[in-house]
Amino acid sequence: MTTIGVLGAGQLGRMLALAGYEMGLRFVFYDETPDAPAGHVAPLTVGRWDDHAALAAFADACDLVTYEFENVPVATAERLAATHPVAPAPRALEVAQDRLNEKTLFRSLGIGTAPFAAVGTTAELRRAVDAIGLPAVLKTRRMGYDGKGQRVLRRPEDLDVPLGPLGGHPLILEGFVPFDRELSILAVRSRTGETAYWPLAENVHRDGILRVSVAPAPGVGDALTAAAADLAGKVLTALDYVGVLAIELFEHRGDLLANEMAPRVHNSGHLTIEGSTTSQFENHLRAILGWPLGSTAPVGFAAMVNLIGETPDPRAVLEIEGAHLHLYGKSPRPGRKLGHVNLVERSPEALTAAIARLASVVAEPTLAR
Ligand code: AMP
Repeated sequence: MTTIGVLGAGQLGRMLALAGYEMGLRFVFYDETPDAPAGHVAPLTVGRWDDHAALAAFADACDLVTYEFENVPVATAERLAATHPVAPAPRALEVAQDRLNEKTLFRSLGIGTAPFAAVGTTAELRRAVDAIGLPAVLKTRRMGYDGKGQRVLRRPEDLDVPLGPLGGHPLILEGFVPFDRELSILAVRSRTGETAYWPLAENVHRDGILRVSVAPAPGVGDALTAAAADLAGKVLTALDYVGVLAIELFEHRGDLLANEMAPRVHNSGHLTIEGSTTSQFENHLRAILGWPLGSTAPVGFAAMVNLIGETPDPRAVLEIEGAHLHLYGKSPRPGRKLGHVNLVERSPEALTAAIARLASVVAEPTLAR
């Protein structure tokens, strides 16, 4: 009986465990927070990331280690790697935790990105703006997520505004990309080297938080599909990656620019639970175990709508034919991801109609697009 140890016990970990139970796997989780969602479905060790005694107890209880949270300190992952297989390898965390490392890797592999520059001081910020131009996006290099830790600079006067929460952190300035839309590619590579790619998802964000994903992304031709798989494949190979990797992309005038990557299962892949032959959660587990990967082919036209801050009446959601409700057991708080609804239909038109029905139940303005 194999027990998987997961660092982080949020909803991603919870869904990994739910997928793994079907294959006879066991799970233990490690998190700093006692009431983490995965702790409702598997044993949870609570401790800080540098609590060596708690980490040793967690390690004793599992055979191999993975993560569902990319801000696990690299030192913690490396410590566990001394005694256990850890997948993806800590190097993937190291790259993904720093936007500068991430974009530097993309560029070194010939993958397009927005122009960028590291910024440490006000003088460097002015030099970076001179080089990149305005508008531009100033972001913290580390720990930014869901649009936190970033600011758009539009006019020269915006440089005079105090940095506020961004001050004192290493920063990156990126050229503002007037993208046509946001896409993501989910890729998976097994311990054996086998790889697979899900169809591109189209993602709609509001206030920096993912609201809706649709896959296969409408209107994507063979060339874009191949370009996305090619760039993701380069990252998988460069990092000798094992597990699911997500890369967030901007589509801009027919080209793909890489924005960031997540060395884990990803919110835009939740629709693979009912929308794909094999979900991202199942394939992540198959990959880290070195088992054959399952087909990533879509089983229909799928959409995922995040439930953020509040949850609708479950009965109203479930009355919608083809709607699958996923709740994470979290208490409501503004801006918090509490669950999602997946819709899977046989045609794009039927999916549009199902989204319209869901819009009457879920207060999500981007559904009206
Ligand atoms: P991130 O934390 O990098 O994923 O950024 C959150 C969201 O901000 C993205 O999903 C985009 O909608 C937007 N954004 C980030 N970087 C840029 C950029 N360089 N140009 C335009 N929009 C951006």
